[in-house]
Order: sequence, then C-alpha cells, then structure tokens
Amino acid sequence: MAAPDIGTSEALETLNRVFGYDDFRGDQHAIVEHVIAGGDALVLMPTGGGKSLCYQIPALVRPGVGVVISPLIALMQDQVDALRNLGVRAGFLNSTQDYAERNRVEAAFLSGELDLLYLAPERLSVESTVRLLDRGKISLFAIDEAHCVSQWGHDFRPDYLMLSAVHERWPDVPRIALTATATKATHAEIASRLNLEDARHFVASFDRPNIQYRIVGKNSPQRQLLELLRTEHKGDAGIVYCLSRNSVEKTADFLVENGIPAVPYHAGLDARTRAKHQSRFLREDGLIVVATIAFGMGIDKPDVRFVAHLDLPKSVEGYYQETGRAGRDGLPSTAWLAYGLQDVVQQRKMIDTSEGSDAHKRQLSAHLNAMLALCETVECRRVQVLSYFGQRSEPCGNCDTCLAPPETWDGTIPAQKLLSTIVRLQNERRQKFGAGQIIDILLGKTTPKVTQHRHDSLKVFGIGTELKEPEWRAVVRQLLAQGLAAVEGDYGSLVLTEGSAEVLNGTRKVQLRREPERAAKAAARSSA
Ligand code: ADP
Ligand code: ZN
Repeated sequence: MAAPDIGTSEALETLNRVFGYDDFRGDQHAIVEHVIAGGDALVLMPTGGGKSLCYQIPALVRPGVGVVISPLIALMQDQVDALRNLGVRAGFLNSTQDYAERNRVEAAFLSGELDLLYLAPERLSVESTVRLLDRGKISLFAIDEAHCVSQWGHDFRPDYLMLSAVHERWPDVPRIALTATATKATHAEIASRLNLEDARHFVASFDRPNIQYRIVGKNSPQRQLLELLRTEHKGDAGIVYCLSRNSVEKTADFLVENGIPAVPYHAGLDARTRAKHQSRFLREDGLIVVATIAFGMGIDKPDVRFVAHLDLPKSVEGYYQETGRAGRDGLPSTAWLAYGLQDVVQQRKMIDTSEGSDAHKRQLSAHLNAMLALCETVECRRVQVLSYFGQRSEPCGNCDTCLAPPETWDGTIPAQKLLSTIVRLQNERRQKFGAGQIIDILLGKTTPKVTQHRHDSLKVFGIGTELKEPEWRAVVRQLLAQGLAAVEGDYGSLVLTEGSAEVLNGTRKVQLRREPERAAKAAARSSA
C-alpha cells in the first residue's frame, strides 16, 4: 500500500480527534481525500451512509470556511449545535435569525473564526450574501440534498437552480454535492445543472440490508398498524407517514388512545409545536411520530426501528428516502406500507387536477406508476427498488415477497370481465364509473345506485361472483399497475388504455399476484 500523503493522515487524524471515530466507512476516505486535494465530487450515498463527514472533514482540513448549502432550515440549529459540541466552529445564516444574530455570524465568517457555515439556498440569490462570501475565504462548497436541483425529481426546490452560479462566481473553490436519492436520470440532471460533469462521481450501493421491506393490502390501516406495533415493535421508536394532516392527527390520537406514545407532525402545526415534537422524538425512547412527508429530511436518529406508510407514497424515490430513516444503526428494522385501490384513485385525481404543464403531469404519473409496480411486484422488493436506481442485486431473502413468495394466477378472464363492463358502460350508456360501482355490477349487487342507473339490466351484471369484493379490488389495482386500465377525472372513473384492447381480444394474458394471506386461505380451503 502506498504511504498515506499529508491529506490522508490529516483527514484520519481529524476523524479520530474531532469525531471520535476509528475508521472511515465505505467511500468516505476516498471522497474526503479527493475534496481536500481540491477536486469536485458528486456523492450518491444512502441515508445513514455518512455523507456529512465527507464535507465536514475537508472543511476542517482545508484553510478557510466550508459553506454548506442545505434546504433544511429547521435543522440548522441542531446541526450547528451538534458540531459545536464536538468543538467545531459552526454557524448558520437563514431567514429565522434576527439582525444581531446574523451580524455576529457574518463577523465570525469574515474573521476566519468559523470552520463551517450553513446557508439556506435562497441566501445565495441575495446580493449582500454573495458580497459577504466574496470577502471571506471559502474552503469548499457542499451542496446537500443535491437532488433538490432536479426539476423532474420528487423534491424540486427552485432556489437550487441558482447553485450553478456558485461555480461561475468561485471557480477555484471545490464543490461537493451529496444526495441519498437519485435515479440514473436524476443523477445525470444533478451533474448537468450543477456543472459537475467533470467532477468525480462516487456512487455507493443504495442497499440497506437491515431494513425489511413489506407492502400489504390496506383494509383497516389503523388496526393493521396497531397489530404491527403490538406484535413486532413494542416500545420501539418509529415514524408513521400519512398523506393528509387530518389523517396524521387521527392516527396519532388513535395510537395514544391505545396506549402507544405518539405525537403528530405536519406543516399545519405551529413552528413551536413542530420543533417540540421533533426534539422529543430525537431525545426520548420509544416515541412514535405520525407525520406528513414534511417530517424527516435530515433527521438523524439511529434507532428508528420502523417506518410505516398508511398511504401510498407518490414516488419510489420518496418511499425509499422515507423508509431509509429506519435502522441507521444497522440493526434490523421494518419498512411497512399499507396500500389500497383508493390510494391510486386519489393520487390520479391529485395529478389530474394539479397545476402545471402536461409534461409535469406525465412525470408525476410516471412516478406513481413506478410506485404501483413496486407494490404489485411478485419479485424481491429490494431487487425492484435497487434496479429503479440503476443498481443490480440478488433476491434479498429479507422482504415480504422473498419470505413468503406470492403465488401468481391467471387473471385473464376476470380482467376481461372487468374491462368488458367498462366497455359496455361506455358504449351502451355513454357512462364512466369508478371501481366501486363496476365491482358492484360484476358481483350483481342491487344497490340503490345500481337500481338508479339500471345497471342490473346490463349483460355483464353479476358475471363476476367467482371473486369476492377485496379480490376484485386487487384485480383493479393490478390492472392499474400494469397499465391495462386507468383512472381519470374527479370521480376516479375507470377507463381503458391501449393495453386493454389486447386483453379483451385475448392476445394478452394477465398474470396477477395472489396476496400471501389469501393464498394461505385458498390453500386451507382446497385442502379442507
Ligand atoms: P447521511 O447524511 O448520509 O444520512 P450521516 O452523515 O448523518 O449520514 O451519518 C449517519 C450516522 O453515521 C451518524 O450518526 C454518523 O455520526 C455516523 N458515522 C458516519 N461516518 C462514520 C464513521 N466513519 N464511523 C462511525 N460512525 C460514522
Ligand atoms: Zn427480497
């Protein structure tokens, strides 16, 4: 092995002395060395991989102040406090500070009394900040959560677009951009928008082997969650994600009523309550935060034992980032998601009614489709997720589909029945209906709505009694996931797609996933 150069030993010495760690992990050493030597870097590393040290150590070793661009304004105080506890001279500038505080930090920056300065991205579009930076000595720029620059990603922040100017203004200062989430396309977009094509790219494996991924059909989500907590996660800290503020509040109440300590977190709560709940979560043992996706970015709590989603995430990137908050300490943890047909209908509707260009809507749809495909896959969840991020892997043996491989069954005939019902409604009645009504027709239920629309006189009325309602819902979900049907409009009407025709004319078979529990019941039935 070559003798370590000055940079290396200084980096290692800093790791030991300041942070108290013995060794670098994974690519950390190579990254740190590269940046200390003045190189640009783009780092893709999963949550908990140890990205912070990749810029903190070079900032300490190189002369000048390391400027860290981060969108996590709410966390800056915590991050800076943690560094100060280690004896690192850190400060931040953001919109939450008063004039005097800002002045103190600026003075410290100018007189070289800082090692690290955290900045919100919008600060860089303020001319006075740029002038301030010009007057001090900058050791490096670290661009954290770099995926926020991706316009088509799941977490775009317009202020990030300005960061390309950093290189033009300070061409000699090395830059390191970091993210825990990037598909191939996002990776390329980060590189091009931040002018990092010539930088060295460090791409770690995104696999989080200690996390067990599980996706279940949703029927009574709060009960299902309670069951999970009581049987597998008694007394554990965890995060429960819900889509709406209302369901966050209700779920937190429900857990508390059932004797499980939980607090809500969403953007509708005032800043003080949010800060209080966040800090309780970080400091207390066994507390559960029920939250919208407003919660979690940058939260570093090592012993989060589970992340549960009660609603379908909007994208695989979001899902993987949120679940990645479990098990940073490397111990076994659970990522559990309950998802149902209603999620799909609701999210389609949100996309349809959202503002923004058609191209943007198509992008949102593509995100949702990938998420659906993950939910309905019969392959290893981990293989599927990692391949979404362009990484190859073997079946993991530690996800629900590996542990209890779902059976598949030939669902061509039920699919044809369902699609024919859509066709008949459309052709004979010029009508569109949501899944609920179509399933009622298939089951031959004479509900008031069926009678009112005289759907009991349709030829397809009652032709689907071989499946029960939940099974029909699973069929619909999977047809949606496979692009063989679609939902549209305010009422979540089921409509045909190009692929539907092939199913209807018999040129395409439909393989469906049988849910493990139902597969077990089916086996029990047939052996009885
Ligand atoms: P990320 O930002 O990639 O999610 P962090 O930088 O927050 O990850 O690091 C995750 C955890 O791992 C932190 O608690 C950090 O102190 C710890 N850590 C990082 N690098 C090392 C190392 N070389 N040795 C021991 N612990 C480390
Ligand atoms: Zn697996």
